[in-house]
Amino acid sequence: MERRLTSDRRYLLERVDDVAVVQLYADGFASLPLRDKVLTWHLYLAALAGRDIYYDQRHALGLDMRAVLEAIVTHPNGIDARVLGEVTRYTKLFWINSGPYNNITARKFVLRLTREDLLDAASAAARNGASLSRRSTESVAQLIDRLAPMFLDASVDPTVTSKTPGAGLDILEASSNNLYSGVSASRLENFVERYGLNSRLTADNGRLVEEVYRIGGRYDREIRRVVGHLRDALPFATPSMGEALRALIRFYETGEDADRVAYDIAWVGDQESRVDTVNGFIEVYMDPRGVKGAWEGIVSYVNDAKTRDIQALAANAQWFEDRMPWDPRFRKPDVAGVTARAIEVVVETGDSGPLTAVGINLPNDQAIRERYGSKSVSLTNVSDAYERSTPEAMRVEFSWSTEEAERAKKWGGFAQELTTAMHEVIGHGSGRMAPGVTEAPHRLLGEQYSSIEEARADLVALYFLPDAKLVELGIVPGDHHDEIVSTEYEYYVRNALVQLRRVREGTQIEEDHMRNRQMIVNWLRAQTLAVDVRRRDGNTYYVMVDANAFREGVGRLLAEVQRIKGEGDAAAARDLFETYGVHFDPALRDEIVARVDRLQLPSYTGFVMPRLDARRDEAGAIVDVEISYPCDLETQMLEYSAFARRDDVLEPPSAAR
Ligand SMILES: [Zn+2]
Repeated sequence: MERRLTSDRRYLLERVDDVAVVQLYADGFASLPLRDKVLTWHLYLAALAGRDIYYDQRHALGLDMRAVLEAIVTHPNGIDARVLGEVTRYTKLFWINSGPYNNITARKFVLRLTREDLLDAASAAARNGASLSRRSTESVAQLIDRLAPMFLDASVDPTVTSKTPGAGLDILEASSNNLYSGVSASRLENFVERYGLNSRLTADNGRLVEEVYRIGGRYDREIRRVVGHLRDALPFATPSMGEALRALIRFYETGEDADRVAYDIAWVGDQESRVDTVNGFIEVYMDPRGVKGAWEGIVSYVNDAKTRDIQALAANAQWFEDRMPWDPRFRKPDVAGVTARAIEVVVETGDSGPLTAVGINLPNDQAIRERYGSKSVSLTNVSDAYERSTPEAMRVEFSWSTEEAERAKKWGGFAQELTTAMHEVIGHGSGRMAPGVTEAPHRLLGEQYSSIEEARADLVALYFLPDAKLVELGIVPGDHHDEIVSTEYEYYVRNALVQLRRVREGTQIEEDHMRNRQMIVNWLRAQTLAVDVRRRDGNTYYVMVDANAFREGVGRLLAEVQRIKGEGDAAAARDLFETYGVHFDPALRDEIVARVDRLQLPSYTGFVMPRLDARRDEAGAIVDVEISYPCDLETQMLEYSAFARRDDVLEPPSAAR
């Protein structure tokens, strides 16, 4: 595949507070066959059509808030510059996080204005012709009164997901997402959920009601439009993808779990398609119970060159499984087909964008994974954009020595991409439950499940990274193997320190991947001699000093983490994270924040996605699909919101400025 000159490209577009906004590129798209391009186009529209579901799942007022913000920023005439500047800052954060909560800390961020400022701005926008409220009978003042507590008061609905709210508090009552309404976790103990993944659970006069996400149910309008675009995609799909899309449509129609299972199986079974999509209620991180799926849409195509390395790993999955450092009763005798691919993402919406993962392994259903395998992908264009937009100072500031910083520069991108692939391909896909344990692990481990599973996958990658097998497979250059291992271990240890910058408030980590990484490094610090904590000029450093001790410790911890998952030992999981993963020293965090702020380093990254346009002939048939790069967050977000309000054409927003 062609690799364009990238030197004149813009990756880092702007900074909004501590967030970097980065443009994502998909260079392979232009050379796809037309049929694949048209398929991608319809799947792209399906991904945009479901986006508002996620906003509503994040908070019951999310879409109302967004409507007000977008009305103000597109109708700014006569609004005080200070007020408009603050609304613009807040709106960008709101778009990046798909609502009023920081996606990493789970905490609400607020608009630093008074109710009067907000009312003045909204009234001006209304005078300028904006429609603000989604309710026709509401005055501007009533609207602002209704939303002001969410916009302005940090103590109202402060946390979207609270897995450890503290003694005596209920995880659902302490969480402000819209997956539940008026329901406490303790009330669910004897309730049999029929639509666990795809419903909103409400208490109606004391009776628990499942509002099912399906056609004719909750999100009917959005799901109908998603399904319409999926149907348009069918004629361009391969036979196996067509089967998967039809199964997905059926699931959207019925909402029944049996149809979800059929879809998962058909989706895993589609191994041949170059273009693929994830569309639906997928990840369960937002639900403190780890049951309800957040909506997301991803459309991607395969990057052949990078896929070769990953497939070498996948083809040897059994070799790794047989050597897992855990009790043999947890080893799979037959590792089912893990399809592993390097992909380039064309669009990610809902739970998957603008904030995106770099690797994905699905489906999440453990029973299907054990019987049918899973699909595992590395998002190579995302990794690439991350790497190209990372400031040099990030590596230097937290490295103990110049050698460490130089290794990070030379091998960091390679080592991280490789460990991400191993995490997904031989990590999540590995292991099995103890004989006799029939309940799914997420049921047994509850709110600890996601962190345990992420820890397990990370540990598998770290454990096998030094293995000579990787050289034998041609994935790692033999004469640099030690250097690559050191680079990754050093990075991993440093990251436990550096990631604290993301949690600017509180003393607790909520996000599962962060919990797992904190846990692993703190455990290694306590249980091995692999990690030194050093200080120089008032700065703290985590220094990886012994790669052998590191690997040996990782093997021991992995054996225990697999045992916890395999036996569903929730008490041990809680203990592990309470001791090593959840709590941190706020003074240390403050030091890290001060260091990154001094260097103006970002805490996380939001991506602007590529844009597609269909070119049609006079008869209306699509003759080409063109890709372009907006390089502007606001343009793209307004365009997506306008698309949700209108019909099936993607048009630039009619911004009235
Ligand atoms: Zn993972």
